[in-house]
Amino acid sequence: MEALIKNINADCKLLAAILDCSSDSLLKSLINQAAKIKKKYCGNIVYLRGLIEYSNICRKNCHYCGIRKDNKTIVRYTVTEDEVINTAKLAYEKNYGSIIIQSGERNNKEFVKSIDKLIRRIKQVSNGKLGITLSVGEQSYDIYKMWYNSGAHRFLLRIESSDEELYKKIHPDDEIHSFINRLKALENLKKAGYQTGTGVMIGLPFQTSEHLAKDLLFMKDFDIDMCGMGPYLEHHKTPMWRYRHSLKPQKERFNLTLKMVALLRILMKDINIAATTAMQTIESGDRIKAIQAGANVLMPNITPAQYRDNYFLYENKPKTFEAPEDHLPHLEAGLKKINHSIGFGIWGDSKHFFNKNRQ
Ligand code: SAH
Ligand code: SF4
Repeated sequence: MEALIKNINADCKLLAAILDCSSDSLLKSLINQAAKIKKKYCGNIVYLRGLIEYSNICRKNCHYCGIRKDNKTIVRYTVTEDEVINTAKLAYEKNYGSIIIQSGERNNKEFVKSIDKLIRRIKQVSNGKLGITLSVGEQSYDIYKMWYNSGAHRFLLRIESSDEELYKKIHPDDEIHSFINRLKALENLKKAGYQTGTGVMIGLPFQTSEHLAKDLLFMKDFDIDMCGMGPYLEHHKTPMWRYRHSLKPQKERFNLTLKMVALLRILMKDINIAATTAMQTIESGDRIKAIQAGANVLMPNITPAQYRDNYFLYENKPKTFEAPEDHLPHLEAGLKKINHSIGFGIWGDSKHFFNKNRQ
């Protein structure tokens, strides 16, 4: 098996077998291979996106998510415009280079306008220098294009699972949770000009290693520019809580995520891959392991403190204001230990986006 790692290709059975194999030495070889590739194609530089969790109001009811519409037990919030601008200014002053605005999904006019205004104002207060990634769900092509024209240039929309059957098991069966519409939204993002990112949850109930292997191949076939994937983490106020006893232990879900990151890096050498917050939830310091396995983007949470408790996607999500792990000097020191530096003050775009458009 380990000899094969040198020549990993887009073979579904091989990928599934690697994901299934629990050998520690295999995991180490994968990580080594991915680390070499990252160094060669991207350098050992980690790009920052200051994460602003803009609102937990959502029109959808994804079966796994703690801020789903039908969870009546959380306080709903939207960060005010001025607070977002002040937070973005702070990120700019700290030399973050980019921010990401994430939110529950809404598509009413008010929401669409408020995102547009935020993008324009953030560009204004940072003299056009702060890069903006959005992660605010499915919208029409025209809306995506409008936000792009206003200054957002990267967008993350996870496919969650690229297997239509599994997707249907973890979402309600209706028009606003349609798999086909999610795929169309991803196509529209590309068409509108965004560096387009997607990703999946790892360790979902009913999910097999074949599903995950297909997810990797989906990302390759779709020719994504960026990826954010993380372990699925249970939440007691969601319909999927009932499957909690059938899940792999969290540490196993984490190791599987590391493998997915390493494999994706080997398959897609020059894309951006995020070490996600959900990884950090399982054990403090785990995001650094994801960087070692091939990730090159970190998204420290910079949401104003009073809102943090209510962006409760899954259990044990880190909540404290400026968690020590998110404190930049601490991050920088941790990264230095593994011979990485932070790309301060630069957007840190996906090299893949430019390389593929040059061809
Ligand atoms: N509403 C937008 C963006 C915010 S949700 C959207 O859905 O695209 C961001 C991500 O959180 C989702 O894509 C999902 O993959 C992740 N998420 C939600 N609930 C989760 C859970 N229980 N465990 C792990 N990740 C979860
Ligand atoms: Fe809403 Fe996104 Fe959560 Fe689905 S995953 S319920 S769209 S916030």
